[in-house]
Amino acid sequence: MPLSLADIFDAQKNIAGVATGTPLVPSPFLSDLAGQEFLLKLENMQPIGAFKLRGALNAVMQLPEDTPGVTCCSTGNHGRGVAYAARARGIRAVICMSELVPQAKVDGIRALGGEVRIVGCSQDDALAEAQRLVAEEGLTEISPFDDPAVIAGQGTIGLEMLTARPDLRTLLVPLSGGGLAGGVALAAKSIDPAIRVIGISMDRGAAMHESLAAGHPVEVAEVASLADSLGGGIGMNNQLSFGLCRDHLDATVLVTEEDIYRAMQTLYYEDRIVAEGACVVGIAALQAGKLPALDGPAATVVTGRNLDMDMFTRIVTGQDIQLGDYTVKGRAYGT
Ligand SMILES: *Cc1c(COP(=O)(O)O)cnc(C)c1O
Repeated sequence: MPLSLADIFDAQKNIAGVATGTPLVPSPFLSDLAGQEFLLKLENMQPIGAFKLRGALNAVMQLPEDTPGVTCCSTGNHGRGVAYAARARGIRAVICMSELVPQAKVDGIRALGGEVRIVGCSQDDALAEAQRLVAEEGLTEISPFDDPAVIAGQGTIGLEMLTARPDLRTLLVPLSGGGLAGGVALAAKSIDPAIRVIGISMDRGAAMHESLAAGHPVEVAEVASLADSLGGGIGMNNQLSFGLCRDHLDATVLVTEEDIYRAMQTLYYEDRIVAEGACVVGIAALQAGKLPALDGPAATVVTGRNLDMDMFTRIVTGQDIQLGDYTVKGRAYGT
């Protein structure tokens, strides 16, 4: 494996003071429910509102002195991380998007100092533009999850958790492309091989779960989900994150949209935390009784807070949520 704990320690130095040191706090309510101490790693408190700054910053910091800049075509948390990291280093970041991307996301990237390039009307058009910028302007494309520097950056979360609490027995990690889960699992298991790391996804469009079951990367249909940051494939030509997840995850667990809805309410009402659907999947699995028995302190990564506040308000007030042609039935908290 071309990545080791040493790379994660290096990443920690590269991103120190900008993207490190988020709190790891116990949740009394979830600890009661779990019958074990249950902790939350608050990556929602990152300056961009999500953990992706760690990987993006580690990748940007490793570029040569004379780099003309970076590009990517993520409209979500990775795009925000790349924009912020590039500004921290004083280089250009061009985030490519299609015309379909909502104005709020465009504004969000611009506010973080990113240049936004709007091209065509599909994600493929945006990707083609990013590739053109690589070929013609010498920008470096930063993958959201399948890049060694990105994975090492995300792995610093595992390092921080185990440094603060070496007694953790189980880590519950939201799982999409697997950069986060792969990096965290590599860090945690290098320090304590007996620790259990479980990857958690939504049951609609769980690309890594399906790929691990098949033994190779597979395509899944992408559908709207409350956990929108967990959508998308793992890449049919996956180089790193698939192998890391295959070798280091003890299990993967799937949760429903209803489980996610309830967990967003729980985290809000019990811990007063505003979190994306993608971040509460570990809590959703706990509440839904989908986790193996916990044998000691457990923790999950609250990965981000970048959500549509109108939708969030609907959820915490118990209203229905329409996801394409799927309706998540509303339910007031505690009923
Ligand atoms: C990207 C992301 C994830 C998943 O990370 P992967 O490395 O793609 O598995 C989870 N939560 C949030 C908020 C994210 O932005």
